[in-house]
Amino acid sequence: MKIFTTKETLAQYLLQTRAMGKTIGFVPTMGALHAGHLSLIEQAQQNNDEVVCSIFVNPSQFNDPKDLEKYPRTIEADIKMLEQVKCDVLFNPAVNEIYDDNEQWHLNTGELEYLLEGKFRPGHYQGVTQVVYKLFNIVKPDTAYFGQKDYQQFLIISKMAEQLNMPVKLVMCPIRREADGLAMSSRNIQLTAEDRVHALILSKTLNRVKDSFDRNKLAELKQEADRMISKEPGVELEYFEIADGDTLHQANEKTKNIIALVAARVGITRLIDNVLLVHGS
Ligand code: AMP
Repeated sequence: MKIFTTKETLAQYLLQTRAMGKTIGFVPTMGALHAGHLSLIEQAQQNNDEVVCSIFVNPSQFNDPKDLEKYPRTIEADIKMLEQVKCDVLFNPAVNEIYDDNEQWHLNTGELEYLLEGKFRPGHYQGVTQVVYKLFNIVKPDTAYFGQKDYQQFLIISKMAEQLNMPVKLVMCPIRREADGLAMSSRNIQLTAEDRVHALILSKTLNRVKDSFDRNKLAELKQEADRMISKEPGVELEYFEIADGDTLHQANEKTKNIIALVAARVGITRLIDNVLLVHGS
């Protein structure tokens, strides 16, 4: 695997790759890789000649400096995993390779930015669009792969790409889970053994809602979900919403695409998860 730490050397290499007529698939990550990330890389490998993974813990998307500080960093293990799955290229820049001092950024992606995650992590999506815009400009991928796990992020990045006419195709990949249902996340490393058990209430609740889904009883389903999560010890619910999959506004009986999304703190760790309830009808 080729490893680049500067944007110039990566861009130069990819210029040659493109000149050979090769397509480029891109998987941006913040590292502490797990099988969920690897599933994105596999998907990229199936549909592209060359796959670039980036590992960059992006400071501008953390609204809480303590969260940034404690975010897991496991670069050596990450490199081994990427080599095992035969990823072609890793881009692993330092912060000052991506940002100048006091850089400003604002992109208006409308209401989406302020709902759900946006409410609990003010400014988060400005940081996300800022870094993804920069990474897309450096890598210039044909296709970029993102996880359904960060569903709202996918909607916002799609909106950015559309608004700015970015010539990239975006693909959303399914959520990879542990055998017991917990959605894989870099943050799972931070869970204590006890937290790990309590954290299961999130996927359990999403499954319950999926199994008992009834369009006409959305309010009851939400109430039941709130109740299940709130009574779990060690878990502090931030939101559970049954939402329109396109706008993330509360869903109603007529909504076409419906998704249930949850965020909660389990011990010191903030976890998110979701499940599609109705798709593409
Ligand atoms: P992160 O490193 O958390 O920024 O995630 C990098 C990419 O991996 C994002 O597109 C995530 O949505 C995706 N991802 C994270 N967890 C999972 C998972 N459990 N299954 C599939 N994709 C995931």
